[in-house]
Amino acid sequence: MKHISDELIKIKESGLYRNLKTVGNAQDTLVEIEGKTYLSFCSNNYLGLANHPYVIKAVKDAVEEYGWGAGASRLVSGNMTLHETLESEISKFKLKNATIVFPTGYMANLGVITSLVSNGDLVISDKLNHASIIDGCKLSGADFRVYAHCNMEKLENILKKSAKYNRKLIVTDSVFSMDGDLAPLPDLVKIAAEYNAMLMVDEAHGTGVFGENGRGVVEHFNLCKEVDVVMGTLSKAIGSLGGYVSGDIDLINYLRNKARSFMYTTALPPAVCAASIAGIKLIQEDHSMRVSLWHNVYFIKDKLNSLNINTIVSESQIIPILIGDTKKAVKISKLLYDNGILIPAIRPPTVPANSSRLRMTVMSSHTKKDLERLAQVLSNVLCLWKTEVKLGLRQ
Ligand SMILES: *Cc1c(COP(=O)(O)O)cnc(C)c1O
Repeated sequence: MKHISDELIKIKESGLYRNLKTVGNAQDTLVEIEGKTYLSFCSNNYLGLANHPYVIKAVKDAVEEYGWGAGASRLVSGNMTLHETLESEISKFKLKNATIVFPTGYMANLGVITSLVSNGDLVISDKLNHASIIDGCKLSGADFRVYAHCNMEKLENILKKSAKYNRKLIVTDSVFSMDGDLAPLPDLVKIAAEYNAMLMVDEAHGTGVFGENGRGVVEHFNLCKEVDVVMGTLSKAIGSLGGYVSGDIDLINYLRNKARSFMYTTALPPAVCAASIAGIKLIQEDHSMRVSLWHNVYFIKDKLNSLNINTIVSESQIIPILIGDTKKAVKISKLLYDNGILIPAIRPPTVPANSSRLRMTVMSSHTKKDLERLAQVLSNVLCLWKTEVKLGLRQ
């Protein structure tokens, strides 16, 4: 096993080694790590639902009624009332005819992409799509092409040469998870129709955040009907666990028969579904969470702009601060940590080389004071960094 230890050393030397931090309390704006309290700006629990009293009550009630585990895969005997309820609630929420739930979003992407395309088909993916999409594309066996980020001309160039393919699938994140920008969905819908390709949109970071009713970026662009395959996760704004795909009834029945990451895995514990059902209900009934999230997003972006901090292309609650060099990003993240602020450095291979960054996310429950403190510490740390570089204290 020496080659493993050698490789680990190499990873450490290049600044790419990843350490786990252990949170000792519930997920909230304040987290405890090794006995200290940090202000967290990296949770995907955008609306605070992961620790919401209504969600906790729903879980307790579900455990009382249905116990914990599901005991088998959905197709054997693990399909329980709450799985069915969850799927129909997601369908109503997403304005689609049917929904299939997977144990995670990662598995949903693997399952749907490998079912929709295979050998002899074509799958086309945005350069900055999530890892689970990329893995699904690779595993599918279809010809796999990537277009430059949000570049519709490049996408069309690929499609123009795709006449020989029977099935074509275009897949994109709706909110890009590391840059926080939006996919040009109206253009994608048009192009997909023109070239007779299926369009799949991953709403992991859009759901609960975008659109008048929180349905996602698809709603924001008024395209709920037009997008064929809407995928999402229950683990981000919804605060629970699981992935889903919504679409026509035939599509969903097909996936129930084809998607291996649905067929060959145990169903989610029913109480997890209860949490998701509760979260979706809250999102639909209480728009104030989304309002305060957006209020916080605009507030912090204004602050950062006034400090001349580069948040690149962010159009969402995901706000990256571009640093570039990997080791520098890691050191700045550590300085923030020493000052009580939790924002990880995101490094290759998660982002392209030389684009390491601090990836910040905002929650509805951050207070104005939290955001002001963040801006203060960020400006101090970045300023200190620049001075030390000037004085030659850092290279
Ligand atoms: C997080 C994420 C997933 C995976 O969802 P999980 O439920 O965490 O497995 C898929 N796609 C995107 C864009 C994501 O950000």
